[in-house]
Amino acid sequence: MGFAEFVGNERIVAALRRMLASGRMPHALLFTGPRGVGKYLLARMFAQAANCEQLPDDFCGECTHCRSIAGLADLGPLLEAALAERGDAPDAATVERMPLILQTHPDVWVLVPDPVRRHNPVAWPAIRMGQLRAVQRAAYFRPLARRRVFIIDGAETMRWDYANIFLKVLEEPPDTATLILLAPTPDTLLPTIQSRCLKFHFAPLTVEQVEQLLKQKTGLKPAERRLAAQLAAGSPGVAMTLDLEESARVRRELLQLIEAALEGRAGPDTFALTEQLSRRQKEGLENLLELFYSLLRDLLELSCDPNGASVRNPDLRAELERVAPRVTVEWVARATGELDKFHARLRRNINRQLGLDAWVAASAAR
Ligand SMILES: [Zn+2]
Repeated sequence: MGFAEFVGNERIVAALRRMLASGRMPHALLFTGPRGVGKYLLARMFAQAANCEQLPDDFCGECTHCRSIAGLADLGPLLEAALAERGDAPDAATVERMPLILQTHPDVWVLVPDPVRRHNPVAWPAIRMGQLRAVQRAAYFRPLARRRVFIIDGAETMRWDYANIFLKVLEEPPDTATLILLAPTPDTLLPTIQSRCLKFHFAPLTVEQVEQLLKQKTGLKPAERRLAAQLAAGSPGVAMTLDLEESARVRRELLQLIEAALEGRAGPDTFALTEQLSRRQKEGLENLLELFYSLLRDLLELSCDPNGASVRNPDLRAELERVAPRVTVEWVARATGELDKFHARLRRNINRQLGLDAWVAASAAR
């Protein structure tokens, strides 16, 4: 038990422990880094250590506080219950009046982007005004244990005009509370928020570290562990939840789409494929685009250096090598640019299939 279980980013762990030991706690922390790299896990561990009855700069995992905060390990059931309580089709006012707050200990709150509905989540879940107002009020309450900790996951989804509510808390911080914001990169947050947070950037783990974790926590075979670790690009959280078969299917379909664009086969020819891809709800759109980028990068590298290049999609190496000779640097630049445009429109609730069709049409080699 304790911080020793956290793998990777040792310097961040050491810095947090020094703060805990000195008793000089920051009012706001900003954890940035790729999805699944351990930002949330370390934030939860920090909340345990800040309230542990036994240890000053670590957590025992056994005292009342440690155990009840450990209930935040799996947010799925808590989220499900909170959404159920609000009803299946809440209106906008209800969503704000009953803010989504996940907790298993009175001093530790987790905020996640609000998907509004249980079964048909909105396309772009976001942190809501009601959630921020609730934090603003609760931050000044005296803690039951030692410290109130508010973890805001997906802080980048906060609207910038709402973010000003936050500034008030950050400008007159209560002594007994710490806010921990989690986001992929600092520049997704207002500069005024960034500058009031102590920032820590989480680096990806090595393939070997991820493999080791998979060995401890999953029943995967060695070859599967290796592949999952490679595909996850240093994020144990991604590797742990990866469905290898499904992932290979999706990436093969994306590669077919890339081939179609290379051959200039946009339109009716590719509609079946984009329809199929847009139905794969399990892969979030954001994730789908990540896979798309990784395939384009592999093709670019293989087209420049067919023998070298360690590809990001080793299980598709043969297929990638077949397509790579037809790829040019100019084409990849154009296709990537079109993908960036698609990505930028995500927030506006665009239709997946139309977005993919538009990409094929715009990237079709002429
Ligand atoms: Zn404890």
